[in-house]
Amino acid sequence: MKFSLCILSVVAAVACAATDVATQQKVYKSYTSPDFPRDSVDIQFRQQKNKDSYYDALKTFNNLILPKEFPESALPLAIVTPSKANNKGLEKAIKVASQFGLRVSARSGGYQSGYSSNMAAVDNNREDFVLLDLSKLNKVTINPKARTATAEPGTTGLELYTEAIKYGLHFAGPHTARVTIGGFLLQGGMGIGSRLHGAGVDNVIGFDIITADGKTVYADAKHNKDLFYAVRGGGQFFGVVTKFHLRLVPMVKNPTLVPTYNETSVQIDQVFAIFDRPQGNQLLNFYSKFDPKAPKALENKVVFTVDAATNAKQYLFASVSAAPFNTSSAVTKAQADITKWYKTLPTNFATSDPSTYGGVIHGSDAGWADSDLSYYAEDLWFPVPLDPRLQKVLIKQWDKVPSALSSMALNTGTWDAPTKSALGYDRSYSLCIYSTWKRNGTAAWDETNRRWVDETVKALKPWTLGYYANELRPKKLQDRNYWSKCYEKKTYKTLKTTKNKWDPENIFKSL
Ligand SMILES: Cc1cc2nc3c(=O)[nH]c(=O)nc-3n(C[C@H](O)[C@H](O)[C@H](O)COP(=O)(O)OP(=O)(O)OC[C@H]3O[C@@H](n4cnc5c(N)ncnc54)[C@H](O)[C@@H]3O)c2cc1C
Repeated sequence: MKFSLCILSVVAAVACAATDVATQQKVYKSYTSPDFPRDSVDIQFRQQKNKDSYYDALKTFNNLILPKEFPESALPLAIVTPSKANNKGLEKAIKVASQFGLRVSARSGGYQSGYSSNMAAVDNNREDFVLLDLSKLNKVTINPKARTATAEPGTTGLELYTEAIKYGLHFAGPHTARVTIGGFLLQGGMGIGSRLHGAGVDNVIGFDIITADGKTVYADAKHNKDLFYAVRGGGQFFGVVTKFHLRLVPMVKNPTLVPTYNETSVQIDQVFAIFDRPQGNQLLNFYSKFDPKAPKALENKVVFTVDAATNAKQYLFASVSAAPFNTSSAVTKAQADITKWYKTLPTNFATSDPSTYGGVIHGSDAGWADSDLSYYAEDLWFPVPLDPRLQKVLIKQWDKVPSALSSMALNTGTWDAPTKSALGYDRSYSLCIYSTWKRNGTAAWDETNRRWVDETVKALKPWTLGYYANELRPKKLQDRNYWSKCYEKKTYKTLKTTKNKWDPENIFKSL
């Protein structure tokens, strides 16, 4: 364990707003006692002398939201990072936390916007908590005969895909391959091939979860059915998931359609075109008619973007043969139809290679590691078919976007596999609104960019079914009604009942 032995005196000297010194010392003693697993876990304390290693342990995949920007009392009292599977250690960490009145948050990769694994920020209170960082748990095992996999929550899409493809198999995981599957699956997961194979949660056969009493239980369609339903879509409220059992799908054996994976994107067979501002409306008209009838093996999206060189508003259309991968003639024909259609437009430029485009596309921009960038996002669900009036509002809001680094993405709806899980609003379109901006040190500029998202969400309210629990506006997380807007009414009620049964003391995130 890498913490300074001076910690006790520091703990004694620095009073914490949330937890009294005596409690901190007791937790410290418990977490450093001989029976706590020492060989396979790193533990950092908020009050330790070596602040840098504490902040290092808090860091997520990029610097967009810096832990140092939170008040210290909103940060975890302890960060527990096992280096390999260790349910006994994690169970004990939860028991000790619970014993001392602390709450518990899990983090698989920390990719969720709003730095939401920081539970204190979510709950807007000063209740202290322990953060269980599972990012090093990334073991994947494939059973090619059964077409199943087990994967730990810190597994990235890249790690899962590269194992599965060895056996000609695929999982409907995150489009950006560096995203970890933990949070992706627990809040739903709109993945590669989801239109054909269902959302990420539809392909979860079962999972191991440590619940509030510090015991590991297994849940699937037959065991602990209520947890199985609730955790697949509402996964952050009930416990800590330590292993997923996943269903894989076979890939079509066609060497020309083998996807290439890298950390930031998955390149698959696709039609890709960029439209200038005047064609925005035509594109949205085309999309809303084409998409509902398109073959399920195609995923279509309109990305609202800004040309980096000229600062001009643009629209990008991508139709991806995303279910690795269907070579049917219906897909080939649909792709030919798209190409024929966009070639009839006067001034668009078309390309089949997205990397030739200089604009910022969410998730594939290496600049995300830039600590001067900031980020604020929301995902909305819209009913199918798209209301034509909605298109006008989208274009109007896009005209007002303050930063050229921002984007919006309207994603294909009409999934084939209706989810029997807590995932909110299946069979609908999703619109991701990403405000990304370079900081210039003024609070006003930060506020302008955040306000644009808030105003866009407000303008789209008449058509909005709800929010996607995986992409969150940090400011809104302080709104206690927020989660009720992420789920259908009936689902939310079921989640509440399940929460009362499995986490009556509200140790994990509040629902
Ligand atoms: C670049 C990028 C691309 C993305 N692409 C997609 C996409 O294609 N499709 C899509 O659907 N989403 C996408 N997302 C959203 C992404 O799915 C979510 O951000 C997801 O939550 C990230 O997973 P994570 O493991 O990093 O979660 P974290 O940020 O670690 O956690 C998210 C929430 O889940 C809880 N949690 C995490 N792990 C556990 C666990 N093991 N047990 C219990 N609770 C846990 C946390 O406390 C937190 O509340 C993308 C995000 C980014 C940044």
